[in-house]
Amino acid sequence: MNSEQVIDQFRTTGALLEGHFQLSSGLHSTVYLQCALVLQFPDRAEAFGRAIAEAYRDAGIQLVASPAIGGIVIGHEVARALGARFVWTERESGEMTLRRGFTIAPEEKTLVVEDVITTGGSTRETIEALKRAGANVVAAASIIDRSGGSADVGVPRTTLASLKVLSVDPSECDACKLGDAAVKPGSRKAAP
Ligand SMILES: [Zn+2]
Repeated sequence: MNSEQVIDQFRTTGALLEGHFQLSSGLHSTVYLQCALVLQFPDRAEAFGRAIAEAYRDAGIQLVASPAIGGIVIGHEVARALGARFVWTERESGEMTLRRGFTIAPEEKTLVVEDVITTGGSTRETIEALKRAGANVVAAASIIDRSGGSADVGVPRTTLASLKVLSVDPSECDACKLGDAAVKPGSRKAAP
């Protein structure tokens, strides 16, 4: 599956919208990405999982781990394709941790999988949580990299598709300057 085919599936399912959006951060962007809208189709999630797994076929991955909630569906599919175990991390009092009785074998060869990498923050936090539990994290992967390749997570990283998405303060937004009202994704109404 090449990068264009990946993006195409996002467009088809409404997971990638182009226009003028107000993000939950308050910033404005010309692109809105909602991975859950493509991953709601198990056959598409499975195909992405297989495509990510392809790069790690001979890497001896024993464990795939993902940050909840966004990474769970795709991480599970990658684990299935690799015949590996799957666990997730989640925040507890703000800190990314392994819960639910999940344990890691010493030096267990681990791949961290995310749906979207933006700054790499949650992937880095997941890697740290796994290392604290004794894992050997060898790589990280995502369906979409919206950092344009610049996010550094401290281990080698692959992605199925790359998008350079700029978010700007409304005072610097070109579309706003043209008098266009920003849309809040998930709603059909224009932002106030
Ligand atoms: Zn704007």
